[in-house]
Amino acid sequence: MITKPKGCVDVTGDESLLWEYVNDVVSTMMRTYNYEFIRTPIFEASELYHRSVGESSDIVKKETYDFKDKGDRNLTLRPEGTAGVVRSYLENKAYALPDVKKYYYNGTMYRYERPQSGRLREFTQFGVEVLGSNDPIVDAEVISLQYKILETLHISNLEVMINSLGDAESRKNYKEALVKYLEPNLDKLCDDCKERFKTNPLRILDCKVDKDSEVLKNAPKTIDYLNKESKERFETVLKYLDIMDIDYEVNPSIVRGLDYYDHTVFEIVSLDNFETEHNVLGGGGRYNKLIKELDGPDSYGIGFACGMDRIINILKDMDLYKDIKRQVEVYIMYVSEEEKLHAIDIAQNLRLNGVITELDNMGKGLKGQFKEADRLQAKLLIILNNEDLQKGLVNVKDNATKEEEKVDLGEIVEYIIGNL
Ligand code: AMP
Repeated sequence: MITKPKGCVDVTGDESLLWEYVNDVVSTMMRTYNYEFIRTPIFEASELYHRSVGESSDIVKKETYDFKDKGDRNLTLRPEGTAGVVRSYLENKAYALPDVKKYYYNGTMYRYERPQSGRLREFTQFGVEVLGSNDPIVDAEVISLQYKILETLHISNLEVMINSLGDAESRKNYKEALVKYLEPNLDKLCDDCKERFKTNPLRILDCKVDKDSEVLKNAPKTIDYLNKESKERFETVLKYLDIMDIDYEVNPSIVRGLDYYDHTVFEIVSLDNFETEHNVLGGGGRYNKLIKELDGPDSYGIGFACGMDRIINILKDMDLYKDIKRQVEVYIMYVSEEEKLHAIDIAQNLRLNGVITELDNMGKGLKGQFKEADRLQAKLLIILNNEDLQKGLVNVKDNATKEEEKVDLGEIVEYIIGNL
Protein backbone atom coordinates (compact mmCIF):
# COMPACT_ATOMS: atom_id res chain seq x y z
CA MET A 1 0.00 0.00 0.00
CA ILE A 2 1.26 3.47 -0.78
CA THR A 3 1.59 5.58 2.35
CA LYS A 4 1.95 9.32 2.83
CA PRO A 5 5.42 10.84 2.75
CA LYS A 6 7.32 11.15 6.03
CA GLY A 7 6.53 14.29 8.03
CA CYS A 8 3.16 14.88 6.34
CA VAL A 9 -0.35 14.50 7.75
CA ASP A 10 -3.84 13.77 6.42
CA VAL A 11 -6.46 16.02 7.97
CA THR A 12 -9.80 14.19 8.10
CA GLY A 13 -12.82 13.47 10.31
CA ASP A 14 -13.61 15.64 13.34
CA GLU A 15 -10.15 17.21 13.19
CA SER A 16 -10.91 18.68 9.79
CA LEU A 17 -13.85 20.52 11.39
CA LEU A 18 -11.36 22.23 13.66
CA TRP A 19 -9.30 23.24 10.63
CA GLU A 20 -12.38 24.71 8.97
CA TYR A 21 -13.25 26.55 12.16
CA VAL A 22 -9.76 28.02 12.61
CA ASN A 23 -9.62 28.99 8.93
CA ASP A 24 -12.94 30.83 9.36
CA VAL A 25 -11.71 32.70 12.44
CA VAL A 26 -8.47 33.62 10.67
CA SER A 27 -10.11 34.95 7.51
CA THR A 28 -12.79 36.84 9.43
CA MET A 29 -10.22 38.55 11.66
CA MET A 30 -7.99 39.34 8.69
CA ARG A 31 -10.87 41.00 6.90
CA THR A 32 -11.80 43.00 10.01
CA TYR A 33 -8.26 44.39 10.13
CA ASN A 34 -8.55 45.12 6.39
CA TYR A 35 -5.97 42.61 5.12
CA GLU A 36 -6.11 41.35 1.53
CA PHE A 37 -5.85 37.61 0.85
CA ILE A 38 -2.88 36.76 -1.35
CA ARG A 39 -2.09 33.41 -2.95
CA THR A 40 1.40 32.94 -4.30
CA PRO A 41 2.86 29.79 -5.93
CA ILE A 42 3.82 26.83 -3.78
CA PHE A 43 7.13 26.73 -5.64
CA GLU A 44 9.32 29.65 -6.64
CA ALA A 45 12.72 30.13 -8.26
CA SER A 46 15.27 28.74 -5.78
CA GLU A 47 17.20 31.99 -6.01
CA LEU A 48 14.37 33.83 -4.28
CA TYR A 49 14.95 31.93 -1.03
CA HIS A 50 18.74 32.02 -1.31
CA ARG A 51 18.59 35.80 -1.54
CA SER A 52 15.84 36.43 1.02
CA VAL A 53 15.91 33.79 3.73
CA GLY A 54 19.70 33.78 3.33
CA GLU A 55 22.43 31.30 2.41
CA SER A 56 23.53 30.92 6.02
CA SER A 57 20.09 30.08 7.41
CA ASP A 58 19.26 26.54 8.51
CA ILE A 59 16.30 26.64 6.16
CA VAL A 60 18.32 27.24 3.00
CA LYS A 61 21.33 25.21 4.11
CA LYS A 62 19.52 22.04 5.09
CA GLU A 63 15.77 22.20 4.82
CA THR A 64 14.53 23.23 1.39
CA TYR A 65 12.93 20.88 -1.12
CA ASP A 66 14.82 21.80 -4.29
CA PHE A 67 14.16 20.34 -7.70
CA LYS A 68 14.67 20.96 -11.38
CA ASP A 69 11.63 21.00 -13.63
CA LYS A 70 11.61 19.58 -17.17
CA GLY A 71 12.77 22.96 -18.47
CA ASP A 72 15.90 22.71 -16.29
CA ARG A 73 14.77 25.53 -13.95
CA ASN A 74 15.90 25.44 -10.32
CA LEU A 75 12.79 25.56 -8.16
CA THR A 76 12.11 25.28 -4.43
CA LEU A 77 8.95 24.38 -2.53
CA ARG A 78 8.24 27.40 -0.36
CA PRO A 79 9.66 27.03 3.16
CA GLU A 80 7.97 30.23 4.38
CA GLY A 81 5.56 32.87 3.13
CA THR A 82 7.35 36.22 3.22
CA ALA A 83 9.67 35.84 0.22
CA GLY A 84 6.86 34.90 -2.18
CA VAL A 85 4.64 37.76 -1.02
CA VAL A 86 7.44 40.31 -1.39
CA ARG A 87 8.30 38.87 -4.82
CA SER A 88 4.67 39.30 -5.90
CA TYR A 89 4.52 42.86 -4.47
CA LEU A 90 7.57 43.80 -6.53
CA GLU A 91 6.59 41.93 -9.69
CA ASN A 92 3.14 43.55 -9.69
CA LYS A 93 4.58 46.96 -8.79
CA ALA A 94 2.15 47.22 -5.88
CA TYR A 95 4.65 49.64 -4.27
CA ALA A 96 3.51 52.26 -6.80
CA LEU A 97 0.24 52.57 -4.88
CA PRO A 98 0.11 55.55 -2.51
CA ASP A 99 -0.67 53.48 0.57
CA VAL A 100 0.61 50.46 2.48
CA LYS A 101 -0.22 46.99 1.19
CA LYS A 102 -1.61 44.68 3.87
CA TYR A 103 -1.59 41.03 2.71
CA TYR A 104 -2.52 37.82 4.46
CA TYR A 105 -1.88 34.26 3.36
CA ASN A 106 -2.80 30.80 4.57
CA GLY A 107 -1.07 27.82 3.01
CA THR A 108 1.30 24.88 3.20
CA MET A 109 5.04 25.28 3.71
CA TYR A 110 7.78 22.69 3.18
CA ARG A 111 10.91 22.09 5.21
CA TYR A 112 13.02 18.95 5.26
CA GLU A 113 13.20 18.70 9.05
CA ARG A 114 13.43 15.79 11.45
CA PRO A 115 9.72 15.05 11.94
CA GLN A 116 8.40 15.01 15.50
CA SER A 117 5.37 16.29 17.32
CA GLY A 118 4.85 19.93 16.30
CA ARG A 119 7.50 19.70 13.60
CA LEU A 120 6.43 18.47 10.20
CA ARG A 121 7.85 18.50 6.69
CA GLU A 122 4.61 19.78 5.20
CA PHE A 123 2.87 22.19 7.56
CA THR A 124 0.45 25.08 7.31
CA GLN A 125 1.06 28.68 8.23
CA PHE A 126 -1.14 31.71 8.10
CA GLY A 127 0.50 35.07 8.24
CA VAL A 128 0.54 38.68 7.17
CA GLU A 129 2.96 40.99 5.42
CA VAL A 130 2.55 44.76 5.57
CA LEU A 131 4.65 46.51 2.96
CA GLY A 132 5.47 50.18 2.51
CA SER A 133 5.35 51.67 6.03
CA ASN A 134 7.92 52.06 8.77
CA ASP A 135 5.46 53.59 11.23
CA PRO A 136 5.49 51.74 14.61
CA ILE A 137 1.70 51.66 14.41
CA VAL A 138 2.11 48.87 11.85
CA ASP A 139 4.42 46.85 14.11
CA ALA A 140 1.84 47.06 16.89
CA GLU A 141 -1.06 46.20 14.58
CA VAL A 142 0.66 43.10 13.20
CA ILE A 143 1.53 41.83 16.68
CA SER A 144 -1.94 42.58 17.97
CA LEU A 145 -3.64 40.84 15.06
CA GLN A 146 -1.70 37.64 15.67
CA TYR A 147 -2.42 37.82 19.39
CA LYS A 148 -6.11 38.52 18.92
CA ILE A 149 -6.58 35.62 16.51
CA LEU A 150 -5.11 33.23 19.07
CA GLU A 151 -7.15 34.82 21.84
CA THR A 152 -10.34 34.49 19.78
CA LEU A 153 -9.56 30.77 19.53
CA HIS A 154 -9.47 30.78 23.37
CA ILE A 155 -5.84 29.73 23.61
CA SER A 156 -5.01 30.69 27.16
CA ASN A 157 -2.15 32.53 28.80
CA LEU A 158 -0.74 34.06 25.65
CA GLU A 159 2.38 36.11 25.78
CA VAL A 160 4.25 38.03 23.14
CA MET A 161 7.99 37.89 23.59
CA ILE A 162 9.36 40.96 21.91
CA ASN A 163 12.79 42.40 21.19
CA SER A 164 14.39 44.94 18.92
CA LEU A 165 17.45 44.40 16.75
CA GLY A 166 17.52 48.09 15.86
CA ASP A 167 18.57 49.71 12.60
CA ALA A 168 21.70 48.89 10.56
CA GLU A 169 23.99 50.95 12.82
CA SER A 170 22.66 49.39 16.04
CA ARG A 171 22.90 45.91 14.56
CA LYS A 172 26.50 46.52 13.51
CA ASN A 173 27.49 47.74 16.99
CA TYR A 174 25.74 44.82 18.57
CA LYS A 175 27.29 42.28 16.26
CA GLU A 176 30.76 43.56 17.09
CA ALA A 177 30.09 43.32 20.81
CA LEU A 178 28.63 39.84 20.43
CA VAL A 179 31.57 38.54 18.41
CA LYS A 180 33.99 39.95 20.95
CA TYR A 181 32.10 38.24 23.75
CA LEU A 182 31.61 34.90 22.03
CA GLU A 183 35.09 34.37 20.63
CA PRO A 184 36.76 33.28 23.90
CA ASN A 185 33.71 31.12 24.75
CA LEU A 186 33.35 29.25 21.49
CA ASP A 187 34.58 25.91 22.84
CA LYS A 188 31.60 25.84 25.21
CA LEU A 189 29.12 25.94 22.33
CA CYS A 190 27.80 23.24 19.99
CA ASP A 191 29.37 22.50 16.60
CA ASP A 192 26.56 24.23 14.72
CA CYS A 193 27.16 27.38 16.76
CA LYS A 194 30.88 27.28 15.97
CA GLU A 195 29.86 27.29 12.32
CA ARG A 196 27.26 30.05 12.90
CA PHE A 197 29.97 32.15 14.51
CA LYS A 198 31.64 32.37 11.10
CA THR A 199 28.50 32.88 9.00
CA ASN A 200 25.99 34.73 11.21
CA PRO A 201 26.82 35.02 14.93
CA LEU A 202 23.37 36.44 15.80
CA ARG A 203 21.96 32.99 15.04
CA ILE A 204 23.81 31.55 18.00
CA LEU A 205 21.36 33.34 20.27
CA ASP A 206 18.42 31.22 19.17
CA CYS A 207 20.29 27.92 19.10
CA LYS A 208 18.03 25.22 20.48
CA VAL A 209 20.96 23.19 21.85
CA ASP A 210 22.80 25.96 23.69
CA LYS A 211 19.82 28.09 24.68
CA ASP A 212 20.15 27.41 28.42
CA SER A 213 23.92 27.60 28.58
CA GLU A 214 25.63 30.20 30.81
CA VAL A 215 27.43 31.59 27.76
CA LEU A 216 24.19 32.54 26.07
CA LYS A 217 22.48 33.66 29.26
CA ASN A 218 25.23 36.22 29.87
CA ALA A 219 25.59 37.33 26.26
CA PRO A 220 25.23 41.04 25.45
CA LYS A 221 21.64 42.11 24.74
CA THR A 222 20.53 43.79 21.53
CA ILE A 223 18.44 46.38 23.37
CA ASP A 224 21.58 47.68 25.14
CA TYR A 225 23.08 48.51 21.75
CA LEU A 226 20.17 50.36 20.18
CA ASN A 227 20.97 53.87 19.05
CA LYS A 228 18.66 56.69 20.19
CA GLU A 229 16.31 56.48 17.20
CA SER A 230 15.97 52.71 17.36
CA LYS A 231 15.38 52.84 21.11
CA GLU A 232 12.66 55.45 20.77
CA ARG A 233 11.07 53.50 17.98
CA PHE A 234 10.96 50.35 20.10
CA GLU A 235 9.47 52.24 23.05
CA THR A 236 6.75 53.61 20.78
CA VAL A 237 5.85 50.10 19.61
CA LEU A 238 5.53 48.99 23.25
CA LYS A 239 3.38 52.03 24.07
CA TYR A 240 0.99 51.18 21.23
CA LEU A 241 0.84 47.55 22.41
CA ASP A 242 -0.16 48.80 25.87
CA ILE A 243 -3.05 50.74 24.34
CA MET A 244 -4.09 47.59 22.44
CA ASP A 245 -4.08 45.51 25.62
CA ILE A 246 -1.46 43.02 24.50
CA ASP A 247 0.52 41.05 27.10
CA TYR A 248 4.18 41.21 26.15
CA GLU A 249 7.54 40.67 27.72
CA VAL A 250 10.75 42.15 26.38
CA ASN A 251 12.94 39.11 25.81
CA PRO A 252 16.50 39.76 24.63
CA SER A 253 17.03 36.20 23.39
CA ILE A 254 14.48 36.63 20.61
CA VAL A 255 16.50 37.30 17.46
CA ARG A 256 14.58 35.08 14.98
CA GLY A 257 16.21 32.60 12.66
CA LEU A 258 16.28 34.48 9.37
CA ASP A 259 18.79 36.94 7.93
CA TYR A 260 16.40 39.64 6.93
CA TYR A 261 15.07 41.02 10.23
CA ASP A 262 15.72 44.42 11.78
CA HIS A 263 14.01 46.52 14.47
CA THR A 264 11.00 44.70 16.00
CA VAL A 265 11.15 40.91 16.32
CA PHE A 266 8.65 38.82 18.27
CA GLU A 267 7.35 35.36 19.03
CA ILE A 268 4.07 34.36 20.60
CA VAL A 269 3.66 31.49 23.05
CA SER A 270 0.97 30.03 25.24
CA LEU A 271 2.52 29.80 28.71
CA ASP A 272 0.09 26.97 29.54
CA ASN A 273 1.65 24.85 26.84
CA PHE A 274 5.13 25.93 27.68
CA GLU A 275 6.38 22.54 28.78
CA THR A 276 6.15 21.17 25.26
CA GLU A 277 9.22 21.74 23.16
CA HIS A 278 7.31 23.29 20.30
CA ASN A 279 5.40 25.88 22.22
CA VAL A 280 6.07 28.77 19.86
CA LEU A 281 2.85 29.34 17.97
CA GLY A 282 4.10 32.08 15.73
CA GLY A 283 6.57 34.84 15.23
CA GLY A 284 7.73 37.54 12.95
CA GLY A 285 9.49 40.80 12.61
CA ARG A 286 10.37 43.83 10.57
CA TYR A 287 12.46 43.36 7.44
CA ASN A 288 13.24 46.77 6.01
CA LYS A 289 16.29 45.57 4.07
CA LEU A 290 14.59 42.71 2.27
CA ILE A 291 12.67 44.64 -0.38
CA LYS A 292 15.79 46.33 -1.69
CA GLU A 293 17.67 43.05 -1.44
CA LEU A 294 15.16 41.63 -3.92
CA ASP A 295 15.78 44.50 -6.36
CA GLY A 296 12.85 46.60 -5.17
CA PRO A 297 12.75 50.18 -3.97
CA ASP A 298 14.06 51.25 -0.57
CA SER A 299 10.89 50.39 1.30
CA TYR A 300 9.67 48.77 4.48
CA GLY A 301 8.08 45.51 5.54
CA ILE A 302 6.90 43.61 8.57
CA GLY A 303 5.02 40.34 9.01
CA PHE A 304 4.23 37.33 11.13
CA ALA A 305 3.64 33.64 10.52
CA CYS A 306 1.64 31.32 12.76
CA GLY A 307 1.75 27.54 12.74
CA MET A 308 -1.71 26.08 12.16
CA ASP A 309 -0.72 22.51 13.01
CA ARG A 310 0.49 23.56 16.45
CA ILE A 311 -2.65 25.59 17.06
CA ILE A 312 -4.85 22.63 16.14
CA ASN A 313 -2.81 20.39 18.45
CA ILE A 314 -3.61 22.70 21.36
CA LEU A 315 -7.30 23.06 20.45
CA LYS A 316 -7.73 19.28 20.13
CA ASP A 317 -6.97 18.92 23.84
CA MET A 318 -9.24 21.74 24.99
CA ASP A 319 -12.63 20.86 26.52
CA LEU A 320 -14.20 23.72 24.61
CA TYR A 321 -13.63 21.94 21.30
CA LYS A 322 -14.38 18.36 22.40
CA ASP A 323 -17.97 18.68 21.21
CA ILE A 324 -17.09 19.73 17.71
CA LYS A 325 -18.40 16.74 15.81
CA ARG A 326 -19.42 16.21 12.25
CA GLN A 327 -23.20 16.24 12.55
CA VAL A 328 -26.06 16.70 10.09
CA GLU A 329 -29.20 18.63 10.96
CA VAL A 330 -31.70 16.83 8.75
CA TYR A 331 -31.74 13.34 7.26
CA ILE A 332 -34.32 12.65 4.54
CA MET A 333 -35.64 9.09 4.17
CA TYR A 334 -37.33 7.58 1.16
CA VAL A 335 -37.86 4.20 -0.53
CA SER A 336 -39.73 4.48 -3.85
CA GLU A 337 -38.51 6.34 -6.93
CA GLU A 338 -41.42 8.80 -6.53
CA GLU A 339 -40.35 9.54 -2.93
CA LYS A 340 -36.75 9.86 -4.08
CA LEU A 341 -37.69 12.68 -6.49
CA HIS A 342 -39.27 14.60 -3.60
CA ALA A 343 -36.26 13.82 -1.40
CA ILE A 344 -33.91 15.30 -3.97
CA ASP A 345 -36.05 18.42 -4.26
CA ILE A 346 -36.43 18.94 -0.49
CA ALA A 347 -32.70 18.32 0.13
CA GLN A 348 -31.78 20.90 -2.48
CA ASN A 349 -34.10 23.49 -0.93
CA LEU A 350 -32.89 22.86 2.61
CA ARG A 351 -29.22 22.98 1.62
CA LEU A 352 -29.69 26.23 -0.26
CA ASN A 353 -31.27 27.62 2.88
CA GLY A 354 -28.23 26.73 4.94
CA VAL A 355 -29.55 23.55 6.60
CA ILE A 356 -26.97 20.73 6.82
CA THR A 357 -28.87 17.96 5.04
CA GLU A 358 -28.14 14.39 4.06
CA LEU A 359 -30.09 11.66 2.32
CA ASP A 360 -29.47 8.09 1.29
CA ASN A 361 -26.95 7.85 -1.54
CA MET A 362 -26.66 4.07 -1.71
CA GLY A 363 -30.15 2.61 -2.16
CA LYS A 364 -30.37 1.44 1.48
CA GLY A 365 -33.66 0.21 2.93
CA LEU A 366 -35.51 2.15 5.63
CA LYS A 367 -33.79 0.26 8.45
CA GLY A 368 -30.38 1.10 7.06
CA GLN A 369 -31.39 4.73 6.63
CA PHE A 370 -32.50 4.98 10.30
CA LYS A 371 -29.13 3.59 11.31
CA GLU A 372 -27.31 6.06 9.10
CA ALA A 373 -29.35 8.97 10.48
CA ASP A 374 -28.32 7.95 14.01
CA ARG A 375 -24.68 7.60 13.02
CA LEU A 376 -24.77 11.12 11.57
CA GLN A 377 -26.51 12.35 14.74
CA ALA A 378 -29.28 13.93 12.65
CA LYS A 379 -31.55 16.15 14.73
CA LEU A 380 -34.61 15.88 12.50
CA LEU A 381 -35.72 13.12 10.13
CA ILE A 382 -37.97 13.74 7.17
CA ILE A 383 -39.66 10.44 6.40
CA LEU A 384 -41.33 10.43 3.01
CA ASN A 385 -44.11 8.08 1.93
CA ASN A 386 -46.25 8.14 -1.21
CA GLU A 387 -49.56 8.20 0.62
CA ASP A 388 -48.77 11.41 2.53
CA LEU A 389 -47.03 12.99 -0.43
CA GLN A 390 -50.20 12.64 -2.50
CA LYS A 391 -51.95 14.73 0.18
CA GLY A 392 -49.11 17.27 0.07
CA LEU A 393 -47.74 16.21 3.46
CA VAL A 394 -44.42 14.95 4.87
CA ASN A 395 -43.55 13.38 8.25
CA VAL A 396 -40.95 15.10 10.36
CA LYS A 397 -39.55 13.22 13.33
CA ASP A 398 -37.47 14.69 16.13
CA ASN A 399 -34.73 12.10 16.49
CA ALA A 400 -34.18 12.86 20.18
CA THR A 401 -37.77 13.04 21.49
CA LYS A 402 -39.10 10.70 18.78
CA GLU A 403 -42.11 13.00 18.36
CA GLU A 404 -43.58 13.04 14.85
CA GLU A 405 -45.54 15.68 13.05
CA LYS A 406 -47.11 15.95 9.58
CA VAL A 407 -46.06 19.11 7.80
CA ASP A 408 -47.31 20.78 4.64
CA LEU A 409 -44.83 20.04 1.82
CA GLY A 410 -44.89 23.72 0.74
CA GLU A 411 -43.85 24.82 4.23
CA ILE A 412 -41.18 22.24 4.96
CA VAL A 413 -38.18 24.58 4.73
CA GLU A 414 -39.68 27.17 7.10
CA TYR A 415 -40.81 24.40 9.47
CA ILE A 416 -37.35 22.80 9.60
CA ILE A 417 -35.56 26.10 10.12
CA GLY A 418 -38.01 26.98 12.91
CA ASN A 419 -37.52 23.64 14.66
CA LEU A 420 -33.75 23.10 14.54
P1 AMP B 1 9.00 30.27 11.41
O1 AMP B 1 8.61 30.55 9.99
O2 AMP B 1 10.09 29.22 11.52
O3 AMP B 1 9.25 31.49 12.21
O4 AMP B 1 7.74 29.57 12.08
C1 AMP B 1 6.58 30.24 12.42
C2 AMP B 1 5.65 29.24 13.05
O5 AMP B 1 5.32 28.22 12.12
C3 AMP B 1 6.26 28.49 14.23
O6 AMP B 1 6.09 29.20 15.42
C4 AMP B 1 5.46 27.20 14.23
O7 AMP B 1 4.22 27.39 14.88
C5 AMP B 1 5.22 26.96 12.76
N1 AMP B 1 6.22 26.02 12.23
C6 AMP B 1 7.47 26.30 11.80
N2 AMP B 1 8.08 25.19 11.35
C7 AMP B 1 7.20 24.18 11.52
C8 AMP B 1 7.25 22.77 11.25
N3 AMP B 1 8.30 22.19 10.70
N4 AMP B 1 6.13 22.04 11.55
C9 AMP B 1 5.03 22.61 12.10
N5 AMP B 1 4.95 23.93 12.37
C10 AMP B 1 6.01 24.71 12.08
